[in-house]
Amino acid sequence: MNNCWRSCRTLALTFLLFFTSHSVLHAQTAASKTQIVLLGTGTPLPDPERSGPCTAIVVNGTPYLVDLGTGVVRRAATARKNGVTGLEPTNLKIGFVTHLHSDHTLGFADVLLTPWIMGRKQPLEVYGPPGTRAMADHILKAYDVDIKTRTKGLEHSNKTGCNVNVHEIKPGVVYEDENVTVKAFVVSHGELQAYGYRFETPDRTIVISGDTKPSRAIVENCHGCDVLIHEVYTQASSDLVSPEWKQYRLAYHTSSKELAEIATKTKPGLLILVHRANPGCDQARTEECREAGSEEQLLKEMHQAYNGKVVAGHDLDIY
Ligand SMILES: [Zn+2]
Ligand SMILES: [Zn+2]
Repeated sequence: MNNCWRSCRTLALTFLLFFTSHSVLHAQTAASKTQIVLLGTGTPLPDPERSGPCTAIVVNGTPYLVDLGTGVVRRAATARKNGVTGLEPTNLKIGFVTHLHSDHTLGFADVLLTPWIMGRKQPLEVYGPPGTRAMADHILKAYDVDIKTRTKGLEHSNKTGCNVNVHEIKPGVVYEDENVTVKAFVVSHGELQAYGYRFETPDRTIVISGDTKPSRAIVENCHGCDVLIHEVYTQASSDLVSPEWKQYRLAYHTSSKELAEIATKTKPGLLILVHRANPGCDQARTEECREAGSEEQLLKEMHQAYNGKVVAGHDLDIY
């Protein structure tokens, strides 16, 4: 009896240990496959805490950038220093642009040239709406002196890594490899042609809104996705801006109330708030306006209207 109890207990403990270690191992493997690294959570506002829009989806060590905002390469270098080895700047080779507003593309030249100067040999691959190719051509022309000097002079830079292959895309699957399937879908951002992106990786489905007013495409493409990364502005700040700015916000961006409705319909596992825009208030620059558009106010409004898991994203956060 005593012996049996002892051996049963040993057996139970062995099973417990096996399943515990197995599930820990599984959790680690799952966590190591896909990392979302927020490289820039800002807007056109030159906020020293927030770089221009850029999200890195890192799958099995390969980074895929969404948007190329100001400061992207330096933020990637910081993430690399923090332990995300895939974000070594020379590893930045693929970018997806949501639309051609300057806050989303000011880092285009940076991603094209800085990793090349550091030794990247492959051309940069950029996916984006019509107009992306012209932008790339203009950047190459603008940096003609730099590129010539570095390739022909004593810096001995390679002649391939400063090139860019632009893929002007239509909605649908725009990219596929062993790590990801990337689908672009049309969102509504005033008169701009703008895309949101859906990433399917071996362990997660991630949807990135880009800049948009409330869009059915977000609901359809997320629909129970693991992570929804969405732009937003506060209702409180909107109440303080002029009728013209209110009109602009309605046509270009998404309020907390509207985002709560979208999230309630589409039920993401996690909602990450980025690009907390405050147009109208940014220009008025009053304390009242600034507070009405603050992160605290935004989270208060979101928690009032939405009961799913929601966080405010910061630069260099990893999910
Ligand atoms: Zn923007
Ligand atoms: Zn925009």
